[in-house]
Amino acid sequence: MNRLSAYVLSLAMAAVCVSGSTSAQQLPTKSPKIKTIIIDAGHGGTDQGAKGTYSTEAQLTLQIALKLDTLLRNEMPDTRFVMTRSTDVYHHPTVKANIANQENGDLFLCIHVNAAPPKKEIIGYKTIASYKKVKGKKKKVYKKVPTYRYSPNPVYGTSTYVWAADRSDEKTKGIIADERYESSAEVMDIPDVNSPEALIKARLWSQKFFKNSVRLASMIEEEFVGNGRKSWGVLQRNHMGIWVLQATNMPAVLVETGFITNKEEEDYLNSEAGQKEIVRSIANAVIKYKQMIDGKPQ
Ligand SMILES: [Zn+2]
Repeated sequence: MNRLSAYVLSLAMAAVCVSGSTSAQQLPTKSPKIKTIIIDAGHGGTDQGAKGTYSTEAQLTLQIALKLDTLLRNEMPDTRFVMTRSTDVYHHPTVKANIANQENGDLFLCIHVNAAPPKKEIIGYKTIASYKKVKGKKKKVYKKVPTYRYSPNPVYGTSTYVWAADRSDEKTKGIIADERYESSAEVMDIPDVNSPEALIKARLWSQKFFKNSVRLASMIEEEFVGNGRKSWGVLQRNHMGIWVLQATNMPAVLVETGFITNKEEEDYLNSEAGQKEIVRSIANAVIKYKQMIDGKPQ
């Protein structure tokens, strides 16, 4: 069964349930909806992302993503996992999105490390001289300018991003352009993927993806909090780096696993124990999310 008809069927089943079916009618033989999960280690190769005092974001995202892949493969043996990169290489975001879509991903997990700009504070003023032309003559003028001290930004903690709601149209367009949608449209007897019916169906799909992305993002942040991490919660972002979330035709989240610009957190992100904890938190959330979508295994 293809994805769209599976989705339409689940809507139909939900309608049947509301109209008072017995639980026997809902009983399974349904195949899982989450079959393939894409793990994306942010940045890589010529793009090392954020920098700490001794490590880079690209190194850390790869280490964390590799550990996450291993743990999830062990604990979810019936699910297929695909990494967008497993070495230190750069892929343009469009390549990453294509990998996710062509591999028929049902979920996109993007791993990143955050950075905050150094804190800038005024510590005094100094007088500097410059020359100005007054009535054709050069005149020396003095002015006071502040002097600054830069210090590392102490901000730390995690956050999980979903695409900004105003990008939903982009997601809908992406869904329509996806060949999986095109083949679903054929099965659904939609003659033209650009027709209003096709657009409405793709919008419904996009809304469902958004809702599920927010659910998973909340579960991930809850796990981090349970592990004693500071959480900035589920956030929406609209700029570069998040594009891949709206270009992947599936629920998608981007996890900022900590701040590399905070010395303590850089140490935590680099430590074996820290990486294990991060991966455990994300994996717990993914397992719960799959149970929510597919039901608990019998
Ligand atoms: Zn990043």
